[in-house]
Amino acid sequence: MNNLTGIAAANGIAIAKAYHLVLPDLSYTNKQADDPQMEIDRLEQALAISKQELETIKNHAKIKMGDAQAEIFSAHLLILDDPELIGPIKAKITDENAIAEAALDHTVQDFVTIFEAMDNAYMRERAADIKDVSNRVKAHLLGVAFPDPALIDEEVVVIAHDLTPSDTAQLNKQFVKGFATDIGGRTSHSAIMARSLDIPAVVGTQHISEQTSQGDLVIVDGIDGHVIINPDQDTVEAYKNKQTQFAAQKEEWAKLKDEPTYTADGEDVLLAANIGTPDDVEAALENGAEAIGLYRTEFLYMGRSEMPSEDEQYEAYKTVLEKMDGKPVVVRTLDIGGDKNLDYLELPEEMNPFLGFRAIRFCLENEHIFRPQLRALLRASAHGHLQIMFPMIATLDEFRHAKKYLIEEKESLQKDGVEVADNIEVGIMVEIPSTAVMAKQFAKEVDFFSIGTNDLIQYTMAADRMNERVSYLYQPYNPAILSLVHNVIEAAHAEGKWVGMCGEMGGDPQAIPMLLGLGLDEFSMSATSILPARSQLLSLSQKEFASYTDTLLGMDTAEEVVAFVNHKTAKA
Ligand code: PEP
Ligand code: MG
Repeated sequence: MNNLTGIAAANGIAIAKAYHLVLPDLSYTNKQADDPQMEIDRLEQALAISKQELETIKNHAKIKMGDAQAEIFSAHLLILDDPELIGPIKAKITDENAIAEAALDHTVQDFVTIFEAMDNAYMRERAADIKDVSNRVKAHLLGVAFPDPALIDEEVVVIAHDLTPSDTAQLNKQFVKGFATDIGGRTSHSAIMARSLDIPAVVGTQHISEQTSQGDLVIVDGIDGHVIINPDQDTVEAYKNKQTQFAAQKEEWAKLKDEPTYTADGEDVLLAANIGTPDDVEAALENGAEAIGLYRTEFLYMGRSEMPSEDEQYEAYKTVLEKMDGKPVVVRTLDIGGDKNLDYLELPEEMNPFLGFRAIRFCLENEHIFRPQLRALLRASAHGHLQIMFPMIATLDEFRHAKKYLIEEKESLQKDGVEVADNIEVGIMVEIPSTAVMAKQFAKEVDFFSIGTNDLIQYTMAADRMNERVSYLYQPYNPAILSLVHNVIEAAHAEGKWVGMCGEMGGDPQAIPMLLGLGLDEFSMSATSILPARSQLLSLSQKEFASYTDTLLGMDTAEEVVAFVNHKTAKA
């Protein structure tokens, strides 16, 4: 039995066999082929199995993620049928007596070298596709298992060094009971997605991928951040009990689904959900969301080989607005960069992607991408209660610039007779310290703020949110952060504007009493955090916590803040 500690990323307990999502060792000893015909037969067989697998994955992807995502696998299938690739591989076997693995490797390398040298993002991407597909074929030649998260069909805990958001999107909740990774923090996007999928997860364990083997029994304790490898029977029983208690607690929370949100002293606040796709709306509503406080639209652009069209975006936004049936929906414009990349965009490699050319900075310079999104949003606005939000605003100038594009697109649509709602609120994410400090000036021009603490904390504390070595600096309760949040709320309220919080701090039970006291109007969080928050708020007095504001802001450390708030809530 081995116990690793990491960062609790998504609540719940999972007990299942380990499924290693790591590329297997594909090395081999090169030699001359004894029997070229046998090598050709081996190649044909590996190609046939690979095609069968890709067909199955494609069908899964189509059902789970839609046609656009499934297209990636159609492209992979085409590669395996391409005589321009397969012909030279066979020729290397027959003419040069190469073994199938070497013939495959050398031919693929020739293609990749040519494609990667091309000054065309599309062709460079084809190079990545060819490498990807050839790894699958090579794994079959070598007789080693190739990991396919989309094809998992038994209960497992996924173990990986890291999971990209698109890996996470492929996980089938029916079988993937939990996941644990070596790297990542509570606010890395795979952790955020785990919470929205309601899959227990522990990230940042540093060594889980080295310390587990395929098939080991693993317990993921996403409540306290532990992973136990090959537990003894007593430990399994103890965790089964913890699992049962957690399920009972969830049943209690479920009773509050259709109740309004109010505090012990009768103040009402709005509890909203963060979503990544239109499919997430069901879970938001089932968990009692009163609004969507953050729709991260970038997921519409990810895991595919080309940009979504304006019409496709319109359909997605309209679907969300219609499903929410008049409840407010904050849609954030494209926030790409940082840990979210788009393969088909020619984004330059950067030394510090989180400080680089991302989000609104990218959109303002790429009008051909930004304007269609704005048009899609404006067209969709006729179908519900839309609020548009710009991410990563650092200066007033950026906000004005983005709003100018929005107004221009609105006028152009109206000129063409397209219906656009006239009550669309336009706000910004406050996730850069300069904006939090300048909230007074911003509050005169925006309709609302939503505080993005995931980034606000990383920028204020200068601590990369993806790096578990500095995760101790992710300090939501640090008086520095509370002071910025306080400044934003005061500034907004002075202008009659509302303030939400859509960073992970907004759904953190430890932070909720402080935020309530600071006057936050809307708390937006992973859907699964909403009911626990509603239950917690019932026992908190807004006026009481408001009276502690000066005390909290004057404290020296985050620990002092936590101790004080815990003491006060214990009495509540
Ligand atoms: C944030 O930064 O707090 C936020 C909500 O945005 P994201 O996590 O997508 O960067
Ligand atoms: Mg952010």
